[in-house]
Amino acid sequence: MADGSGRAKRMYTGSDGEGWGPNRGGGEFRATEQDEHQSIGRTETVPHPVSPFRDEARDVATGHPIAILPGIWEIRESLAPAFDTPETWVSLFLITDPTGHASPVMIDTGVPRSTHTVILPALEALGFAPSDLKVAVNTHSHHDHAGSNVQLREATGCQIWIGRLDGPALLRGDRFGPDEIPPHSADRLLDGGEIVNLAGRDYEIIDMPGHSPGSIGIFDRERGILFTGDAIQARGTTTQGVPGASNRPAYRNTLATVRALPVEHLLPAHAYLPFPPAHVTPGSEVHRYVDVSREAIDTIDDRLASAIRNAGGSATIAKIADTICADQPRTPVLAAPILTDYLNQMAAVGRVRHDADHWTLL
Ligand SMILES: [Zn+2]
Repeated sequence: MADGSGRAKRMYTGSDGEGWGPNRGGGEFRATEQDEHQSIGRTETVPHPVSPFRDEARDVATGHPIAILPGIWEIRESLAPAFDTPETWVSLFLITDPTGHASPVMIDTGVPRSTHTVILPALEALGFAPSDLKVAVNTHSHHDHAGSNVQLREATGCQIWIGRLDGPALLRGDRFGPDEIPPHSADRLLDGGEIVNLAGRDYEIIDMPGHSPGSIGIFDRERGILFTGDAIQARGTTTQGVPGASNRPAYRNTLATVRALPVEHLLPAHAYLPFPPAHVTPGSEVHRYVDVSREAIDTIDDRLASAIRNAGGSATIAKIADTICADQPRTPVLAAPILTDYLNQMAAVGRVRHDADHWTLL
């Protein structure tokens, strides 16, 4: 972090780790003058930054870093326009070294615009230059987690690390709404069991496949802190209301893996129902999170079958999604692709049939 420039460092001193919702963000920034000769310098309170840190329309704090745990900051990015609902965002995390010796690290890079809309502003807010960022680790390859890899590497010179089995997806490229994500390669492919040093602390790479083949958890065993990306999803995002686990056997193994770890702080990348966003704690809640995740994935086929049965034995995906999402204010159109994936799996074992635009119970 120390760049020797002697310029003002900003330390966030708010207590936003507690209390989610519209009133969060009530802390204040302190500007601390520091240089090599002066470890405790002049402090002054500066007004709480509003723009460009907050997307009021969605109640999404953007480049405004929120203190979650010592040396761990949450940075939110809206998911408009691809997932344009008020309550949906992706949580990126910035890991810093409280002693100021090691370089900061990003966990995930967001959507293509995120380098400029949230990551560089967050680095600046904490007193870092772009070139201070040396590494960004992707929890997986999806467009809202690895979408700004190219821009961030260009702007900061950082390396991009990702789980080995999600490396090929980066090479294929992707889209987020109108924005293209160009094909690109990672600088380092990570394997489960590896220990990596991030911002001065050791983290263990945990294989967590199921949502994607190369999804990884990033685990500080000493503090019980686990970054999970989208690897475990409880009942799904607040937008979709169903968990996205295309490979259910792998996903079930991942749930068992997490349940066996001494996790006290689970840091997922989205708000997953019915849990609070960004930070699930303590360990007993983490176990409940895992159990809810397991139940959601084990009951989805029966819920789909029942939705088709209630529609007279045959229904369109729109009708099925309306039924599945009826009990909560989800956006059925966004749940439909995930539900279609599960229906295809049910078709493969002869439980449903797909003709034209209807799914029929067999
Ligand atoms: Zn994902």
